[in-house]
Amino acid sequence: MPQRCMIFVRIMREAREREMHELSLMTDAVGLVVADAARRSITKVTRIEMRVGELSGALPHALREAFPIAAQGTPAEGATLVIDEVKAEVRCKKCLRVFNPTSDGWSCPGCGSYDAEILSGTELHVVSYTGEEKECLSK
Ligand SMILES: [Zn+2]
Repeated sequence: MPQRCMIFVRIMREAREREMHELSLMTDAVGLVVADAARRSITKVTRIEMRVGELSGALPHALREAFPIAAQGTPAEGATLVIDEVKAEVRCKKCLRVFNPTSDGWSCPGCGSYDAEILSGTELHVVSYTGEEKECLSK
């Protein structure tokens, strides 16, 4: 029984660390957009588009939850966040077969090798954003 209790506590802490991780990633992304918007005299950001890979270490749903907190009080507050989720794709170094690794493992469906290089799925960045200039708002 005491062991079971210890496991429960550990999971709780991991969940909290994960939320913190996505919030700090989202704060960075919003900061980048807001800084760029300021240089272009954009006073209101209405939409932010991000690309998030399966292997990026960030969970799209956690990023979506973190976004309103990260954007609060910035010109990006109330903006729409669009996340383009990129599937993981790897190439087997032995037989050069390209496949999507599953959570079960990275074993090549062609030859069974575990030696593969990542082709996509690690991306995590802002692709674009849409905003309104001060002049447009006053017109
Ligand atoms: Zn292979």
